[in-house]
Amino acid sequence: MTRERPTSAPAACRRQMARRRGLAVVVAAVAAETAVVWRRAGRPGGWLVVRCRDGHRFTTLWIPGVSVKSVRLGLWRLQRCPVGRHVTLVTPERPAALDDEQRSAALAIRDVRLP
Ligand SMILES: [Zn+2]
Repeated sequence: MTRERPTSAPAACRRQMARRRGLAVVVAAVAAETAVVWRRAGRPGGWLVVRCRDGHRFTTLWIPGVSVKSVRLGLWRLQRCPVGRHVTLVTPERPAALDDEQRSAALAIRDVRLP
């Protein structure tokens, strides 16, 4: 009586499956961030009005899945606030929920042109 060894996928096939699984996780994470930002800010990304933890409002370039000057934490980003000149968490705000003065003040202060 011979006992057969369990067959396993070749190493190259396992690597390809792991790569696909990793890509699927990244795509799902970016899609989730886009959906949350879209619901919160009314737009999927671009130049968004954000508010820091100290209540400062400004406009920053927010591209889901891309960050050069900030640390992405879902609906929050850790980045420098150009109003208070401090590093803080910022989150998108819906411009329609702001009054004209708040909106124009936020739009007047633009962060650097990096996401
Ligand atoms: Zn601030």
